[in-house]
Amino acid sequence: MTGHPRCLIIEDEPEIGHLLRVSLTLRQWQVETVTDGSQGLVRAANWRPDLVILDLTLPALDGLDVLARLRAWSQVPVIILTARTWESTKVQALDLGADDYLTKPFSVAELMARIRSVMRRLHRDPHARETAFTTAEWRVDLEQRRVWVRGSEVHLTPIEYRLLCVLIRERGKVMTHQQLLTAVWGPHHARANHYVRIYMAQLRKKIEADPGAPHYFLTESGVGYRLAEPEPELDSGPGPDGAAGPGQPADSPPSASRT
Ligand code: CA
Repeated sequence: MTGHPRCLIIEDEPEIGHLLRVSLTLRQWQVETVTDGSQGLVRAANWRPDLVILDLTLPALDGLDVLARLRAWSQVPVIILTARTWESTKVQALDLGADDYLTKPFSVAELMARIRSVMRRLHRDPHARETAFTTAEWRVDLEQRRVWVRGSEVHLTPIEYRLLCVLIRERGKVMTHQQLLTAVWGPHHARANHYVRIYMAQLRKKIEADPGAPHYFLTESGVGYRLAEPEPELDSGPGPDGAAGPGQPADSPPSASRT
């Protein structure tokens, strides 16, 4: 990739399209905007963007259809925009391979934080063996499979540990119940949503200072869970997202402040 990263915006509402264009251009993105799903697919194929921001309610071709067709040949990161309050639509979009979503109305700060998180995940080396995961309050030694919370070692059951490892691997990303079930228990348990709830409660009890008001293991209401990703200080490297680099103003507090 040369030059500035490319963002394709597929959004039929002119005001939101304009806001996105201005916000991203300011942060050194090249931006193209199209207003319907079919045009979006053509542009995605011809222009090869590094990121797609996709509204779900579009004329002609629905956003979910655009996503499904796009995923048939492209793994480009996709952030969904939705005004719909139906959780099931968000779950569908995530299970179809969307990387994240924002519910309208959203703030630019929120959007930029999501973009940084998606681009960081994209540029994490999938083959790099991580040896530890560290937050301000707890630490996991991924080689010895040991967990320390505020100075004391805690024991996790094998399932709790597996769930924790999946969340660490996908940190920052909202994981649907289905995705967590498949990753931890396997495809045969895809309907057993209560497993996830039970084990997430256990993890919170063992790791969170206040399990009732979690800072790390966040609930995305009706959708799934997200392990809050600590925003890196200066060590992330510039990456394709100029906003993540040193010297750029932070747009928002870390997502850990969300509950
Ligand atoms: Ca729309």
